[in-house]
Amino acid sequence: MHIILFGPPGVGKGTQAKILSERFHIPHISTGDMLREEIRLETDLGKKAKVLMDAGNLVPDDIMIGMIRGVLTSQRCVNGIILDGFPRTVEQATALEGMMKELHITVKRVLSLEVTEEHIMERLLKRSETEHRADDTAETILKRIAIYKKSTAPVKDYFISRGMLSAINGEGPVAEVSQRMLDALQ
Ligand code: AMP
Repeated sequence: MHIILFGPPGVGKGTQAKILSERFHIPHISTGDMLREEIRLETDLGKKAKVLMDAGNLVPDDIMIGMIRGVLTSQRCVNGIILDGFPRTVEQATALEGMMKELHITVKRVLSLEVTEEHIMERLLKRSETEHRADDTAETILKRIAIYKKSTAPVKDYFISRGMLSAINGEGPVAEVSQRMLDALQ
């Protein structure tokens, strides 16, 4: 089962992706985590990505599309994935659709987690106190939200127009949000 988790930074995609991953025994693929691993390993990609990520910018589409192609064709993802953090642009969404078609994969559902903007700011600032991510400073958070609105929000319309998206209220206790997602997958 292939599921795409969509939503702004700090909406709780990572937390929910882990829950769905355990429930359905399919890997949680977070492009943000994959990039942070490249940074940790100090690869060429990691070095390039770090500068962009620390400033709150997106990593170029061609790099991200290549990364996801590798994931989709990997053995451990043959039974499905919970995709978190991709696609983030309409170009990535179009490329993903092409790859899925080529690999005969059908997306079960795009689950769009939705909370108010104040909530997002609050959650990201709280996360900065516990996770110490380089891109969770107040200034970078604002930049990431702005980039989300400009480049990523249109992806939602893309999936709506294809009848693939279910909007999920992301407010409230984690377990309640998970239940809403499971209901949407019925
Ligand atoms: P995340 O952990 O999903 O919040 O991602 C952290 C950062 O990684 C983002 O702010 C981007 O700089 C980069 N990133 C992750 N996924 C993508 C993607 N699909 N396209 C472009 N940049 C990405």
